[in-house]
Formats: sequence, C-alpha cells, structure tokens
Amino acid sequence: MVILVQIQINIVLSILLIVLLVHAYFNMNRKRITNRLFMWIMGLTLLTLILEIFSVILNNSVFNEFMVLHKLVNIIGFIVAPCILFLGYIFTKEWVNRYQQEKIKVNKLLLLPLVINGIVTLMSYNGNGVFRITSENIYERGPLFFISPCASYIYFAYNLYFIYKYRKKFTYSELSMFSLFYIAPAILTSIQLKYSIYLTIWSSTAIIVVLTYIFILNDQAYRDTLSGLQNRLAYEHYAQNINYKKVNKLFMIYIDIDDFKKINDQYGHYEGDEAIKAFATLLVESFPLRQKKLIRLGGDEFLILLEEEQLEKVVDYMDNLTQNVEIYNNSEKKAYGLRFSYGMACYTEAYESLYQLLEYVDQLMYDQKESKKSKL
Ligand code: GH3
Ligand code: MG
Repeated sequence: MVILVQIQINIVLSILLIVLLVHAYFNMNRKRITNRLFMWIMGLTLLTLILEIFSVILNNSVFNEFMVLHKLVNIIGFIVAPCILFLGYIFTKEWVNRYQQEKIKVNKLLLLPLVINGIVTLMSYNGNGVFRITSENIYERGPLFFISPCASYIYFAYNLYFIYKYRKKFTYSELSMFSLFYIAPAILTSIQLKYSIYLTIWSSTAIIVVLTYIFILNDQAYRDTLSGLQNRLAYEHYAQNINYKKVNKLFMIYIDIDDFKKINDQYGHYEGDEAIKAFATLLVESFPLRQKKLIRLGGDEFLILLEEEQLEKVVDYMDNLTQNVEIYNNSEKKAYGLRFSYGMACYTEAYESLYQLLEYVDQLMYDQKESKKSKL
C-alpha cells in the first residue's frame, strides 16, 4: 500500500507523457532539431519515471531472484538522469538561434560529467559505485553516490548560466519557462536527496516537461515557419487583447518589400523564400529591444509593434534597418537587392483600435511606394 502511494504520481505522469509523446510525434515538425531534442527529453523522462516505478517495486527481499534486474533498472536510471539535463542544454542552445545562421558551439567539457557518472554507475554492479543492492535485494547508496547529484547540479548550474549569458536572445516568457525548467527540479532534487521516500526528481521534471510542451505548441501556433517571426495570428491575438486605455506609447511600422514578385519571377520561388528569411534576420538585428513584436503578416508584408518608445528611438531603429539592408545588398553576392517601403505611426486615442491604425500605416506605406514609383 505504501509503495502504491509512493509510485502513484509516477504512474499518472507516465501515462500523461505517453499520450503527449504520441501527440508530439504526430503533430510536431520532426525536421526541426529543437522538436526532435524535445521529444528525446520527453521520452527519456518517461523512461526514468518507469524505471523508478520498477526500482521501488523490486526493492524488496521477496524479489530476491530479480536482483540482476533490480541492479540494471538502477544502472540505466542513474546513467539516463544527467543525459536528460545535457539534452536540455543542447535544446536551449538550439532554441536560442533556431532562426539564425550562426550557431553557438557545444561546450564539449560538458560531456565529462556524463562520462564520469556513467563509469561510477557501471561500477555499482559490484557495489562499489553510486549504489549497491544488498544480499536482501535492498537498495542502498554507495560510496560514490555523491557523483550522481554532483553531475546533475553541474548541468542545472551551467544551463542557468547559459540562459543568463544569452538572456538578450530570449523573450521574457522564454526566460521564465526555461529557467523554471532547471530551478524547479534542482530544488526538488534536494528534497529527494534528503528524504529518499519522496520521489520528487522525476515527477517534477515530468511536470515541467508537460508545461514546456504546452509552451512549445503555443509558440508554434503564433510563429511564421518561414521567417521565424511572429505570424498574423499573433497580431490578431495582440490586437484583441490589448488594453487600449493603458496604451501609453505604441508605434506601428508597416513594411512591404519593393518588387518582390520580380525576385520570385527571375530567380525562382526558393530564392524568394531566402529573401524573406534574410529580410526577417535584418529586422531582428535592427530592433535590438525586448518590448517589440516583429510580425510577418503574409507574403512580403511585415508589421512591427514597439511599446513605450520615444519617437527618436523608433527613427533610430528604422535607420538601423535601412543601413543593415544596404550592408546586406552590398555584401551578399545576390544578383538582386532588397528594397522596402514603410508607413509608421503612433497609436493615439484618435484610433478606435489597432486595426484602424494598421489601415492608416498601410496607406502611408502605399503612398511612399507610389511616390517612389512616380519618381522612377
Ligand atoms: P510592390 O513593390 O508593389 O510591393 O510589388 P511586389 O512585386 O512586391 O508585389 P506584392 O508585394 O504585391 O507581392 C508580393 C508577392 O509575394 C506575391 C506573391 O507571389 C509572393 N509571395 C507571397 N508569399 C510568398 C512566400 O511565402 N514565398 C515567396 N517566395 N513568395 C511569396
Ligand atoms: Mg511588395
């Protein structure tokens, strides 16, 4: 009975993870490395939950004949545990620049805790490592037990350091979600280390994995897959939920690439896609502030929403963009150049909604485009 109480959370969470893993497999784009990594994290967390269930059940002299299995269950569990955290590091690293060309290199030193932990875990088979199984088939911590939590805490600490180092590349919600991913299990691990009766490590990790999955699905729904910017749905959501009474300063910039059809017609649709991706990267580089929304409304149309910014600053950001596009046009060995027209305005009470403001900036953009064409 006591055992059942101990493992019931693991059983419920295992079922939940199985359902979500199947859902993820059929609904996530498996070509994306972040999605594949996340599915591995989910699968390995599920594995550890199940192994933990077995290790609790087998930890009884009644099952003396299954001693080898009891040892194996623990060995696999101890080896897999830090692997999940290592994968967490790779996942966060890939997430940071999933839409950028330059990649952050893997810190190979981080493989060391995995290797050391693996060796001392294998030594446990004879009772000299992180754990031993007594002749009564009872689990006990071994002389080198401390190595396993040390390895985990190295990853907790490094992953949090990594998030802090690249904090500017994360949104606020990403910062909170990913920090929680390591802080919560780190705290709950200490509880299980002190009171081994409470199986808090993997149940807390599983709950965080479920929350992260919801977070990823949400991100997927509001993101344009080609450019990596937010999509029209994100704009609709923002426009519908914004508290208009509380909007102090909100600038809206509407951009349309000039003669985009020519790129498609002359160089093909693939090259057109590349041009959209390149322009999106230039947008990200040109607006280095957190309180922003960079949206691809569709085709070659982009919308930028900047909250609480001075007009001069917004003008500076637009200058950044003009310069960056120029640098891109001069440096890239593309046969075509990128040019764009835009309309910009600040939200005031004169507008009933963001939709009305959008109509206005669209008109401004159109006027700019027309005046360019008439000059030509
Ligand atoms: P203008 O200077 O007046 O803006 O002319 P334009 O050629 O840029 O024309 P417009 O903005 O009206 O057309 C955008 C084109 O973008 C129309 C469509 O064929 C193309 N397009 C829309 N979505 C995509 C996409 O995802 N990829 C590619 N390659 N082309 C797209
Ligand atoms: Mg256009």
